[in-house]
Amino acid sequence: MAKLIEHPLVQHKLAIIRDVETGHKRFRELATEITEFICYEALQSVRTKEIDVQTPVGVAACRMIDTDLVVVPILRAGVGMLEGILELIPTARVGFVGLYRDEETKLPVTYYERYPPQIKGGTCIIIDPMIATGGSTAAAIEQLKEHGADNIIVICIVTCPEGIELVETAHPDVPIYAAAIDEKLNENKYIVPGLGDAGDRLFGTSHH
Ligand code: URA
Repeated sequence: MAKLIEHPLVQHKLAIIRDVETGHKRFRELATEITEFICYEALQSVRTKEIDVQTPVGVAACRMIDTDLVVVPILRAGVGMLEGILELIPTARVGFVGLYRDEETKLPVTYYERYPPQIKGGTCIIIDPMIATGGSTAAAIEQLKEHGADNIIVICIVTCPEGIELVETAHPDVPIYAAAIDEKLNENKYIVPGLGDAGDRLFGTSHH
């Protein structure tokens, strides 16, 4: 399931982050802001428990989140969405997964992974700004499942039909939340129109 966040605030910020003239400082700020809004929506149905809270005036029937939350950025670009998640969920634990594509086999290879034990039984939020082919997202989900995770959601900024299809086919239990579902991939596997190389634009490593 792919869920598009169509709120005007998200779409307005998306228009600015896409702009080739937006520099890395503003790009980073926007990535954080957009991530916050998507995260807010994505946690709509997270498990809660009822608790009574003593106010100065009486007892209020309240609800609090009742699951460990683990955020897993896919290196490198996923790190650009981490601050936004932690702003909303300051107690979230953080795991990391690094993947590269083997040039011969074209398959994603895990070169780094480190997860908190709470991925088992908790709620895992994989973050990656661009889900293009979906290959690394599907591989990251695979790794988390192998380590015992069974409640995973994915948050990205821009995706496309190819990426959604690959992830959905391999992992129908994992919802994808995005600010945009773009048209297609180009011959270099970049999303069109997309926003370019998210890692380069976040970290100032592009030539623009
Ligand atoms: N990764 C990016 O950073 N951008 C794309 O368009 C596709 C993959």
